[in-house]
Amino acid sequence: MPGEFDLIAKYFSRPTPHAVLGVGDDCALIKPTPDMELAISTDMLIAGRHFMPSDGPGTIGHKAMAVNLSDLAAMGARPRYALLSIALPEADEKFLQGFAGGFFGLAQKHGVEVIGGDTTRGGLLTISVTIIGEVPPGQALRRDAAQAGDDIWVSGTLGDAAAALAHHQGKLRLETGQAVQCFPRLFVPSPRIELGLALRRIAHACIDVSDGFAADLGHILERSYVGADVWFEQLPLSDALLPLRDNPAVQDCVLAGGDDYELVFTAPVDKREQIESIGKKLDLRLTRAGQVTPLSLEGRGVKGEGEAADKAMRILHHGQPMLLDRSGFDHFGP
Ligand code: ADP
Ligand code: MG
Repeated sequence: MPGEFDLIAKYFSRPTPHAVLGVGDDCALIKPTPDMELAISTDMLIAGRHFMPSDGPGTIGHKAMAVNLSDLAAMGARPRYALLSIALPEADEKFLQGFAGGFFGLAQKHGVEVIGGDTTRGGLLTISVTIIGEVPPGQALRRDAAQAGDDIWVSGTLGDAAAALAHHQGKLRLETGQAVQCFPRLFVPSPRIELGLALRRIAHACIDVSDGFAADLGHILERSYVGADVWFEQLPLSDALLPLRDNPAVQDCVLAGGDDYELVFTAPVDKREQIESIGKKLDLRLTRAGQVTPLSLEGRGVKGEGEAADKAMRILHHGQPMLLDRSGFDHFGP
């Protein structure tokens, strides 16, 4: 059986032309671009929780890189470097081959150099990726920057990944054509890097939809001390989900389903035309689906931030407020 160092050399060592020193020493060395801020994030994926051990190794690799890239997209940062830590129950080379294909395939597409990591034996397949990007000072798209009066925008379509999962779990019945459209959204999400870069100096606040639209917009509202009106019928649905829009299970996927990795952002009204032309240029649907509002007295955080955000957000369906019993996926929730 190959040892740890053979596995690292064989599967995880790739050229790192921009790094001063890549894989192989105690630390990697990088030289940040002068005057840029570093955007750094880490995300962990655990078998049985974030993916099924039976998922294809390539899709697991893709997803591990995609969810990290998505965090950089949400900040408007340009991806540069990543570190990959992996705990493996066994040295399964077929798995490693496929995993590395998906992981490095997406990394390469976005110019990410993998400069280090850690490889160890562990009971449960666990993958932790740290990603490093760059953004000009003051231009990062932060959660705390939304302003009352801003438009609320959403990229792509919402709910497809959650619908695929619900279908897989037997909670929702999709027709074959619909399922074929939704499953790639769950297994091979596309991080919206180009959009994040284009939104620098245009958007105010931005977040990626990993836990669900309502929960993630709620994070912006909490951090920015603002409220929001969202028009449910304006939220972008794919061709697959559009015919099912009155189904409560589908509405739940759209509002509270995770794993879409779309961007939700707020921007001043006078940026509408620029945003529309970004959408055209990137060939990416960008939909205006709400407005940031001043926080009403009732919504001000007397009880706790989460509750304040719940009150601060109104989701209107044909003018009537909708009730949400679940506002996203909370790993420590009930
Ligand atoms: P150390 O014991 O000094 O922490 P390791 O033996 O863990 O070093 O790793 C040797 C080298 O291989 C280091 O440069 C480390 O960053 C790199 N490395 C280990 N695992 C991975 C991985 N899964 N992907 C990329 N690089 C890795
Ligand atoms: Mg180590």
